[in-house]
This record gives sequence, structure tokens and C-alpha cells, in this order.
Amino acid sequence: MSMIKRAVKTWLLMELFRGLMLTGKYLFKKKITVEYPEERTPLSPRFRGLHALRRYASGEERCIACKLCEVVCPALAITIESEERDDGTRRTTRYDIDMTLCIYCGFCQEACPVDAVVETQVFEFATETRAELYYTKDMLLKVGERYESEIAANIAADARYR
Ligand code: SF4
Ligand code: SF4
Repeated sequence: MSMIKRAVKTWLLMELFRGLMLTGKYLFKKKITVEYPEERTPLSPRFRGLHALRRYASGEERCIACKLCEVVCPALAITIESEERDDGTRRTTRYDIDMTLCIYCGFCQEACPVDAVVETQVFEFATETRAELYYTKDMLLKVGERYESEIAANIAADARYR
């Protein structure tokens, strides 16, 4: 019986028509595909993308070289060296993040007591070589300077949940 049923189904092209019906059902529905990169979906303020080091409005670096981010990083991606300045404050002389090691967990940002290291919403930073993904302090500060208004807005938007 089931063989006859299957033969009739095949002969009448039932599966084909069922597929076409499904296609027809979605033909005039609102499209949910996004034509990236011309179109983009909204990103959460908590999005964890490329890292940045921030400065205060005065231009002073926020980072106080406490090394909490370096200690908490599970991927050992952060390398910090520091020294005391003439005014008695401590600042980093080296702050590197190896993005090829980073797993974008956000622990460094969570650990930082002064919101110095943050993860931006930048996710288009693919490179041709691995070496280009080794971010030095200058590179990270430049990212921070470029996206400061966006970073500050995202931190403010997320502040009430922290
Ligand atoms: S996001 Fe996670 S893995 Fe990447 S540098 Fe920060 S703590 Fe390390
Ligand atoms: S970025 Fe933040 S957690 Fe890391 S060393 Fe600087 S102040 Fe400390």
C-alpha cells in the first residue's frame, strides 16, 4: 500500500508542488536578509569587538598599570610593562594585545577599575598577516581616540545593568 502511495506521490510530483507552495508562501513576505555591508543589523552596547585604550578628556591615559586585565586574561593575550613617572603616578610603558590569542571574553574590560581597556563595536579588522593583529599601546590608544564618543555612549547605555 505504502509503495502504491509513494508511486502516486512521485507520479503526481507532490513533493515538487509542496516545495513550490512553500517558496510561494515566502515570496511576498517581508525580507529578513540583510545586504551586508551596505545594510547592517544593530549591535548591542555590550558587543565585544576590537579593543581600545581610552584617555580622559584632559588627554591623560586612563590606564594606571594595575595589571588586573593582564592577570584576568584567560588567553594570556595582554602584555604590560610599567614604570613610575616623575610625579609619582604609574603608567604603562608597554601595553600589547595579541588579537590572534584573544577570545573576546570581555574579562579585561570587566576587571579594569578605570574603564581604560574596552572592547569596541568594531569587528571589521581582518588583516592579511597575523603580525598585523598584534596591537601595541599606540595602536590601542588610536582606536580609543577614534571611537571615544561611541565607547562612552555604550558604557553609559549599559551602566544601569552593572
Ligand atoms: S577579551 Fe578576554 S581574551 Fe581578549 S584580551 Fe580581554 S581578557 Fe584577554
Ligand atoms: S587597562 Fe585597566 S585593568 Fe588593565 S592595567 Fe590598565 S588600569 Fe589596570
